[in-house]
Amino acid sequence: MNIRKLDEQKVLRDPVHEYVRIEYEVIWKLLDTPEFQRLRRIHQLGAAYMVYHGAEHSRFSHSVGVYEVTRRMINEIKELKEHLSEYEQVVALCAALLHDIGHGPFSHAFESVTQISHETMTIRIIMNGPGIRKLLDEVSPDLAADVCAVIDHTHPRTILSQMISSQIDADRMDYLLRDAYFTGVSYGAYDIERILRTFRIEDSQLVIKYSGMNAVEDYIMARYQMYWQVYYHPTSRAYEIMLFNIFKRIKDVYSEKAQLIQKNALFLVPFVSQSEVSLEDYLFLDDNSMIHAFKKLGLQEEDLILKDLSNRLLNRDIFKFVDNGSELYSEKVKELRELNYDIDYYLAEDSLTQEPYLPYRTKGQQIMILMSDGSVKELSEVSSIVSAIAGSQARRDSKLFFPKTEEL
Ligand code: CA
Repeated sequence: MNIRKLDEQKVLRDPVHEYVRIEYEVIWKLLDTPEFQRLRRIHQLGAAYMVYHGAEHSRFSHSVGVYEVTRRMINEIKELKEHLSEYEQVVALCAALLHDIGHGPFSHAFESVTQISHETMTIRIIMNGPGIRKLLDEVSPDLAADVCAVIDHTHPRTILSQMISSQIDADRMDYLLRDAYFTGVSYGAYDIERILRTFRIEDSQLVIKYSGMNAVEDYIMARYQMYWQVYYHPTSRAYEIMLFNIFKRIKDVYSEKAQLIQKNALFLVPFVSQSEVSLEDYLFLDDNSMIHAFKKLGLQEEDLILKDLSNRLLNRDIFKFVDNGSELYSEKVKELRELNYDIDYYLAEDSLTQEPYLPYRTKGQQIMILMSDGSVKELSEVSSIVSAIAGSQARRDSKLFFPKTEEL
């Protein structure tokens, strides 16, 4: 094992955490790998900048933020530093930094069409990424596999996964604050200092002291509000649907119009043909390559659906939406068909639900509260606010998306 600290702590300026502090050589070097640098070219919130123009932040900034929250957990949570070996601390820090390394551009829409999950790609990139694997091996031959085990929840030390991904974890703690900051909405704000101060360890799991419960309630509400205000914003969803339809169209026409795709979006060929997707193919994907393809597809005349959808995307001519109703879908089908729209690409139903908190998750996933008598209780047993929202029916939103038709 070869864990090396930098001679001097390095810092990155960060609008959310002020500073991101780097102590280990492996973390500093991971930042410079091409795989990690690629995250600079992928928006954290996909197309949400079409609604909230400030939401230009990247997966790179979120990833270093999750690293920093994890570093603070290790250094500030009482007993955690002693509870973990130095090697386990490095495993947690690397897992935090790399947990989203497999994300692609417009992940949600792209993954739905190609069936390639970013979780699978994260593991592939950590195990085989040309820059990353070598650096991890220099620390320990086990490090890559240990980092993957933390990310996919198979590591025997569950507290490590709990730190990176549970219902109160470094990932969510960073993205709520970061997404709120960059979108300019105030809902994501909560008291991270208080939460960090009130974390304790009980039975090798993270728990929150009762005196920190109000901060945790606020965090749960912040997440709930961010979902409806930002992540599930209907205009963002309309944009997602258009992206999905473009990718779907590219896939659908590939066998018959291979030349068109090769000419305008050669890098997408492995994803829409039957060929194997290599790591190199995947790492080539970023927002810039996608946007460039949409620009080219917007200029050609061989496939008018791809041309139209690409131009709509580039020029923010987004589908409209209405609340879905029983008769509505068939009415819209008729209306769009009369106007010669192909409903496979111009009409979509989309339903969403959001559970603010899931009390029945397995151990390590629930939020546990440490009571003053030393007992530990699950959050919704103690908090009447959380109990009320966890017990009520999940909010559901069902919408229909289609182009504005009055222009035609
Ligand atoms: Ca994340």
